[in-house]
Amino acid sequence: MTECIFCKIVQGQIPCQKIYEDDELLAFHDIHPAAPVHFMIIPKKHVDSLSQCQAEDQALLGKMLLQAPRLAQQTGLQQGFRTVINTGRGGGQEVFHLHVHILGGGVLPPLQTNK
Ligand code: 5GP
Ligand code: ZN
Repeated sequence: MTECIFCKIVQGQIPCQKIYEDDELLAFHDIHPAAPVHFMIIPKKHVDSLSQCQAEDQALLGKMLLQAPRLAQQTGLQQGFRTVINTGRGGGQEVFHLHVHILGGGVLPPLQTNK
């Protein structure tokens, strides 16, 4: 039994608002949206984070990124979107199953600076 929330979503043990699914990927809306449109693309196989990815994951990572503009179009983000991959505690990662955030709707504010 996995304790990983996203693995449970992949296995259908926890419901999600699904946007897209294929044999390797799942995309679903974030439960606490940080923008008018906010969803995540995850691999179905468990990988803790981008730091744990190996050369064998190259195609999978490419596939995740290539889905981003396609699903952004589908969810109404014709004007553009932001992609975020939080990696590790220092990167603000809270769920340790690799995921790409896609955020958009309106015009997002610039990234905060340390100034
Ligand atoms: P992180 O901070 O790890 O990059 O992002 C994890 C994201 O997962 C957060 O934005 C959080 O709102 C979202 N999240 C956590 N638990 C669930 C859940 O059970 N369902 C969905 N749809 N999103 C979740
Ligand atoms: Zn997992």
